[in-house]
Amino acid sequence: MGSKIDTILANARAHCDEVIKPNVDAWNEAGVWPREASDKAGALGLTGLYAPEEWGGQGLPLGEGIRVYEELGKGDGAYAFALSMHNICTYATCGFGTEAFKEQWARDLTSGKKLANFALTEPQSGSDATTMYTRAVINGDGTWTINGAKAWVSLAGEADVYLTVVKTSDTPGHKDMAMIAIPKDAEGVSFGPRYNTPSYNFLPLSEMYFKDVVVSEDNIILPVGQGLQGSLMAIDIARCSIASGCCGLIESALDTALAYAKNRKMFGGKNLDLEGIQWMLGDVATDLEASRLLYRAAANALGTPEGPVMAAHAKKFVPDAAVRAANTCTQVLGGSGLLKEYGMDRLSRLSQMLRIVDGTTEISRVVIGRALQKRAAGLPDIPVPKGYGEE
Ligand SMILES: Cc1cc2nc3c(=O)[nH]c(=O)nc-3n(C[C@H](O)[C@H](O)[C@H](O)COP(=O)(O)OP(=O)(O)OC[C@H]3O[C@@H](n4cnc5c(N)ncnc54)[C@H](O)[C@@H]3O)c2cc1C
Repeated sequence: MGSKIDTILANARAHCDEVIKPNVDAWNEAGVWPREASDKAGALGLTGLYAPEEWGGQGLPLGEGIRVYEELGKGDGAYAFALSMHNICTYATCGFGTEAFKEQWARDLTSGKKLANFALTEPQSGSDATTMYTRAVINGDGTWTINGAKAWVSLAGEADVYLTVVKTSDTPGHKDMAMIAIPKDAEGVSFGPRYNTPSYNFLPLSEMYFKDVVVSEDNIILPVGQGLQGSLMAIDIARCSIASGCCGLIESALDTALAYAKNRKMFGGKNLDLEGIQWMLGDVATDLEASRLLYRAAANALGTPEGPVMAAHAKKFVPDAAVRAANTCTQVLGGSGLLKEYGMDRLSRLSQMLRIVDGTTEISRVVIGRALQKRAAGLPDIPVPKGYGEE
């Protein structure tokens, strides 16, 4: 008998082959989240990966569960991304939610019957989360009243609950931030018009508005003071998950290019006989091997002091490798690479999208740069020439 992760990975592979790959173009044309597909993912154990078994989850360590997105990403990176966000929210619910909240939501989330997502970004507050504005007032009876607006909310209007980061005072900075779960059907919740994102059109994205939304204190996921720090931990998991999904995307681009180039006749042989083509695809293959090693090492480091910087290395390197892979493999197909049926254009746009979500490539560089400054502070001084440093 195989281990639990082997079964879950086999389930993810089957879900990709039988549900995602054959349907993703139709999903994009319909522009509707395929709820019947995520219901199937739930039945296969893909919606409660890290949640404990007592709440219906799989209880997998992060380092194992994150590999699921590599399988799903072979089918579609946006679908893998949405399920990864749901899994992180489900993990946070089971790990930090109140007993009352878990009783109400945990089993429905782990089974995929209900979907969850994060709401952190705001129109004026993307990379710089400290400029957030959405405000919760804590009432005398313990309930919270929330007013404000979030932007770029994935699964907008489709998810049943949103783990929302809020400020609880007018003081600038992050020390008063908290995270509270806001159900979709709470009075005063509404959504803006759908963003127009043709290459992942089935993933609903929009702004989300809160007008005097009253929520029970049972819904507090992270108390006042822990909102930003907790979100950053969640984002580290998200960064590794995105890198995992990108590996699936790279493999998909590479396999399409190989399968095409081995048949394309030219110069008395096949496209894949050309050494120049082999070198181009060889670079993609090397990037894929390096990317896999990196995201798996980063996922295994989550929860350790190296976790944040390892996640930043993975989020910086792997989506860029995916962009290169999508471009290179499109080029290998020549003009055919631009035709919709080969799917390369979708992969190019998805890989660019994955460079932006959950902390851009540049923000990963900021995290790595800060870690390097710390490392420099611990190194013995090397004297600089006279006039180059402190006198
Ligand atoms: C498809 C998609 C789904 C998303 N889903 C969600 C979601 O479900 N929930 C949620 O809360 N958010 C979500 N987001 C938001 C996402 O996390 C933000 O888009 C991202 O954090 C970047 O913020 P921004 O778009 O405001 O860009 P900005 O912060 O305006 O950045 C603009 C540019 O400046 C660069 N930059 C920023 N800081 C620096 C710096 N210090 N040095 C150099 N360059 C810098 C950035 O890298 C970027 O290139 C989603 C985004 C996308 C595209």
